[in-house]
Amino acid sequence: MKRRISRKAVYAALAAAVFGLTLAAPCAAEITQDDLDELDRQIREQEAVIAAIEDKTASNQEYLDALQKDLSLAEEKLQTTQAGIEELGGQIDQTQEEIERQQEQIDSTYAQLAERLRSMYMNSQASPLEMLFSAKDYSTFLMSMELVSRTSAYDSKMIREYKDLIDEQNRQKAELEAQKSALETQREQEQQEQQEMQSKVSRQKDLLAQLDADSQEATAIQQQLEDQMDAYEEQIRQQAASGSHGDGNPGNEDGGSSGGSSATDIEGADFAWPLMDVAYGSGAYISSDYGPRTDPYTGFHKGLDITCGGAQGKRICAAKSGTVIVASYGWNGGYGNYIIIDHGDGLSTLYAHCDSLSVSVGQQVSRGQFIANVGDTGNSFGPHCHFEVRINGDHTNPRPYLSAYLG
Ligand SMILES: [Zn+2]
Repeated sequence: MKRRISRKAVYAALAAAVFGLTLAAPCAAEITQDDLDELDRQIREQEAVIAAIEDKTASNQEYLDALQKDLSLAEEKLQTTQAGIEELGGQIDQTQEEIERQQEQIDSTYAQLAERLRSMYMNSQASPLEMLFSAKDYSTFLMSMELVSRTSAYDSKMIREYKDLIDEQNRQKAELEAQKSALETQREQEQQEQQEMQSKVSRQKDLLAQLDADSQEATAIQQQLEDQMDAYEEQIRQQAASGSHGDGNPGNEDGGSSGGSSATDIEGADFAWPLMDVAYGSGAYISSDYGPRTDPYTGFHKGLDITCGGAQGKRICAAKSGTVIVASYGWNGGYGNYIIIDHGDGLSTLYAHCDSLSVSVGQQVSRGQFIANVGDTGNSFGPHCHFEVRINGDHTNPRPYLSAYLG
């Protein structure tokens, strides 16, 4: 911004040097102040466009970062679920193995029981009745019967226990399978969520790519405008050089002064020109001079009224560095919104009828620093800056202080 303003001031000076000549010898290709203003406006507009794209890029990048964080969390969650499913699968397999082992036990117990009974009967080779008669005595018979009965009872008990175990394990297995199935449903849901997030991330990346393209395009336009400004600069230099025979200072509103410079700030000059964007003789003029006048309100005009076409809102700067001692809104005895800056050694300057004030009491300001906008407040007839110079509080003619500009 600073670069642009100062450059603009240079253009204003260069252009002003040329415009006088333009009047004398018009040339269709010459650059006017309006051209510079328009180009400057376009550059500012383009800067705003680029800034807006940058803002949008930053917020969208932030959103993308958040999405990517969410996505990696979702991926972690999915991995945990997957591990849970695998763990349950292992447990189910293990339970199945147990069940099969129990079944084998049952099978082998059955086989043993059958074998035992068969061999028992084969050894006896007799029915119980035959055993009764073949037994040496009754007690031997009873012992044989008891043995058969006990053997089968033991095996039956074993088989029942194995069966109970298998039932229990089947129940456990069913429970594990239900858990696994629930986790599988959860995994499907998580996979879906993850896919949605991935597509969000990819859409966001597309958007950022588009913003990047927009930014490059806007920057390219900006570059073209800057190039055009450079070309204007060169052309104005040539216009100035080709017409540097020193005549043709155009008349201006104060009518009297001649050979005045038309910069808004001249290095080495004690004061800066208060109307920081519009140079005297190049748009700015004195609408009312210091001194006695037939003014029904003041009678004596204590300052210079500085204005230009479209003065409302134009920027006012501190003529010299110092401390703000008044920055007041209101009628203020006709001054309207006004500022007084104390420059030390009894010297102060006053800026009246302002629109908005940009400094406050006690603030240090430097020479050329923006302090307020031109307005039409207080006892004012049309926007202008009423500029006073005071020595030990008494007003004095500001003209000598601005002689570098006014001539
Ligand atoms: Zn005035």
